[in-house]
Amino acid sequence: GGKGRTEVFAPEMHAAIVDRLALEADLRRALAEPSRDQFAVRFQPIVRLTDGAVVGVEALVRWTHPVRGALSPATFIPIAETSGLIVPLGAWVLREACREGARWARSRPRGRGVPPLTLTVNLSGRQLQAPGLVEDVAAALAESGLDPASLVLEITETVIMQQTEANLVTLHALKALGIRLAIDDFGTGYSSLSYLQRFPIDILKIDKSFVDGLSRGGSDAALARTIIALGDTLALRCIAEGVEDDAQRTHLQALGCDYAQGFLFARPLPVAEIDALLVNGTAL
Ligand code: C2E
Ligand code: CA
Ligand code: CA
Ligand code: CA
Repeated sequence: GGKGRTEVFAPEMHAAIVDRLALEADLRRALAEPSRDQFAVRFQPIVRLTDGAVVGVEALVRWTHPVRGALSPATFIPIAETSGLIVPLGAWVLREACREGARWARSRPRGRGVPPLTLTVNLSGRQLQAPGLVEDVAAALAESGLDPASLVLEITETVIMQQTEANLVTLHALKALGIRLAIDDFGTGYSSLSYLQRFPIDILKIDKSFVDGLSRGGSDAALARTIIALGDTLALRCIAEGVEDDAQRTHLQALGCDYAQGFLFARPLPVAEIDALLVNGTAL
């Protein structure tokens, strides 16, 4: 490069960076559109294993890029997080989800055996650290009329463990709104058990990797058993994630896990399909 400067240039590296920057710009533009119609929220049922009743739904965002088509959250959520765009995107998902949740609460048949429906929304670390989160959540609740008791916010274990004091203050402020908190991907981080007592958590979501390990036996199955027992001891609800077959379901029930989510029951569904599912009875 002259003047003693050396530059290492790997074309693939360059291409990846350009690609990422292009996607970030597209994401910014899509979020600036008042209609926000490149985005959609899908809802995946959470079921009670004893009777198959749908007890909740998790909101999962989708982005249909005008040129590239449907993009996986695994591609665009990390870009949204590093760029900070997850803050407006997350606020949008929250408002959309709360609006649907309030509608379901009004239309769901009431009666014996029909559990109240819980609405779950993912929260990224960037959102937790952004000023105004508590106000955003309060506004989404007020605007929609959703009962705060039916809203669950999910935070991953790794996020919950960072910057603990600031996070702790925010989590308590969120809890004061009357909502519940879940730890997502539980078991994958480097957890110290003491934070489970310090943080105002209500629900543990057992990561798919442990569910996958159930049939192999050995250490993954032992860990799944331990997590479920831990949840019982601390009076936390356990939800197993990524349940794909009947053997896993049976195994989880035998271990005392009462709730699950996964392709065995349903994929994340568009609003119309969840509507039909919730109206036409609760059993899957
Ligand atoms: P997550 O929160 O752990 O969500 C569960 C993911 O597992 C979803 O992927 C869901 O479609 C998938 N899944 C559910 N059941 C099964 C199963 O039986 N088998 C398999 N193989 N997969 C299953 P999705 O929708 O692609 O989302 C991926 C991740 O992106 C989410 O993981 C979450 O971390 C993030 N994400 C999605 N939507 C949002 C959002 O609105 N806000 C934030 N902050 N993150 C989001
Ligand atoms: Ca989640
Ligand atoms: Ca998860
Ligand atoms: Ca139990």
